[in-house]
Amino acid sequence: MVAANSGEVVIVGGGVIGCLTAYFLAIRGVKSVVVEADAIASGASGTSGGWLTPYSHECDPAMIALSPASLALHRELADALPQETGIDHGFEETPHLRCALTEDGASDLIEWQAARTREGAVMDWLAPAEARALTPWLTADIVGAIRSDNEPMLDSYRLTISAMQAAEKYGARVLTGKVAGLGAAGAAGRCSGVLLEDGTEVFGDAVLLAMGPWTGQAAEWIGSPLPITPQRGQMVYLAAPSEDDGPDLAVGLSAVDTGGSILRKRLTDTIVAATREGVGFDRSTTREARDWLLERGATLSDRIMGAGISGQTACLRPLTPDGKPYVGAAPGWENVHIAAGHASEGIHYAPVTAMAMADLITSGASDIDVSALDPARAIAG
Ligand SMILES: Cc1cc2nc3c(=O)[nH]c(=O)nc-3n(C[C@H](O)[C@H](O)[C@H](O)COP(=O)(O)OP(=O)(O)OC[C@H]3O[C@@H](n4cnc5c(N)ncnc54)[C@H](O)[C@@H]3O)c2cc1C
Repeated sequence: MVAANSGEVVIVGGGVIGCLTAYFLAIRGVKSVVVEADAIASGASGTSGGWLTPYSHECDPAMIALSPASLALHRELADALPQETGIDHGFEETPHLRCALTEDGASDLIEWQAARTREGAVMDWLAPAEARALTPWLTADIVGAIRSDNEPMLDSYRLTISAMQAAEKYGARVLTGKVAGLGAAGAAGRCSGVLLEDGTEVFGDAVLLAMGPWTGQAAEWIGSPLPITPQRGQMVYLAAPSEDDGPDLAVGLSAVDTGGSILRKRLTDTIVAATREGVGFDRSTTREARDWLLERGATLSDRIMGAGISGQTACLRPLTPDGKPYVGAAPGWENVHIAAGHASEGIHYAPVTAMAMADLITSGASDIDVSALDPARAIAG
């Protein structure tokens, strides 16, 4: 909890979680310093797909419960942040088409749609011609598709930069440096701030560890287990189509049979997503991944092989053993908090996580129920 007349909150990590927390603290008058080892949005937050899907945790009640609140906050941020900073972060209510390429795939999709309908979602089954009328990128070889209209897309690099700039307008600041540990521990599980690799001490009333896949390294700092492992995700970008390529609709496409995924967005080139590789902290791109992504994407779209490649990225998802992020106080610490481990859904769940963290840091409680994400569960294994 931040005491009266307190100084800053020290936020370690300038990804989407750290920067949005700085913003939510800033607009309630609490200053923070975001300590970033590299550059703001230099991790996965700068190179994600930016797809906000409520269905990523469809078997996990704790995450399902947080999803509508996070989407609602995203919609508010889409209004507020561009007004604060002038940065359009490309938030758009785009349709998503889940496509079946085989009859088996169609049965799986229809079953999935029935389950979502029981939960209250409204989704339409489209015949191939109806789906192709939406986007000429889609292959003629589909059996059918489900259209969902509650899965917006955005540009996560711009969102993260914009959140940090808005926070800075209210007094937050960025410090470049690599955190190597916590500051001196005092009474009642409190520390004085953080220590940088070069020996500098940054003082603060509270510390938030939001270092994405690197947060596992803080297990030593807090003296209890914090299993978070990196998973590399590579994506390929395709150059903008020429004018005769048909309507330039922003749309998400995925194939239930092959796992292929294509995101056509307003502000960035078309994305072909994404690999899932256990290669430690290696963030290099590979030719094998590029070929694999294009081959898999081509099962969804005839245009992929002919399109020009404009880029390829690799970044790291932060994975936890049970698939849920750690959000809450570090075990045994009163003023050290953790918000990390959001795997493939960190952009979607960033606003609700950041709002809960801002609540917990400033008042010790939040209306957002993050009890199922308590980092203490890591101790039980
Ligand atoms: C290929 C791919 C596609 C994705 N697509 C989506 C998507 O469509 N939708 C979605 O919701 N999510 C998606 N994600 C997941 C999402 O990108 C992540 O969950 C999210 O960005 C994690 O944000 P973060 O702030 O926790 O971590 P990061 O963005 O990794 O930021 C952590 C920051 O901490 C800094 N740091 C680390 N150690 C230190 C230290 N010791 N001192 C100071 N700073 C430090 C790093 O430099 C980094 O900038 C995708 C991920 C990948 C890999």
